[in-house]
Amino acid sequence: MNLVIIGPQGCGKGTQAKLLAEKFNLAHIEMGSSLREQAKEDTPLGKELDEIINKKKELAPDDVIVRVISEQVSRAPAEKGIILDGAPRTISQVEKVAVAFKDNDRKLDKVIFIKLSEAESIERISMRVGCSNCGKNMKIGKDVKGVNDRCPDCGGELNQRKDDTPEGVKKRLDIFNQETVPVVEYYRNQGILLEINGEQDVDGVFKDIASDLEKYE
Ligand SMILES: [Zn+2]
Repeated sequence: MNLVIIGPQGCGKGTQAKLLAEKFNLAHIEMGSSLREQAKEDTPLGKELDEIINKKKELAPDDVIVRVISEQVSRAPAEKGIILDGAPRTISQVEKVAVAFKDNDRKLDKVIFIKLSEAESIERISMRVGCSNCGKNMKIGKDVKGVNDRCPDCGGELNQRKDDTPEGVKKRLDIFNQETVPVVEYYRNQGILLEINGEQDVDGVFKDIASDLEKYE
């Protein structure tokens, strides 16, 4: 079974991808870590990536992303399915992902879309803080009162990712709506979209996805 998982920030798709990879014996291809991993390799693509993401600190362009996807898909063990997490993000990547799968005798079976309202996405991301000392992730209003609190575990200072403010989240959601929602609609028209309510806890989301995928096993 070969899958793609898509969703706005805060929907928990990374967590779900890991759980699904375990349950359905899939290779989890996460784009962010795949890019960082391949940037360390002594290959033409690795050097090019290193130049873009580590030296120039820019976002990798579409054609480079697509080459990384092809490479990662070709490295996945043949006996395993794939769950692709973090791509395709744009309509122009859709066809190239299809080619990467086809070149490796794979077919995209299902696209999981974890749906989350804008308000919930902003709430989840802008309430997120981390401890600068032990790395613990916490939620404002639940684990701590605010970013000026101290870590309840180790007393370390808390910090928030610079762009994890409501404005920062809103900006990234606008990009998602413009570029990635058309990808979701494309897959809906292909009849392979599985839309999941992301406004549940991790277990609830996982149960909904797994109960659908079990039908295809
Ligand atoms: Zn701490």
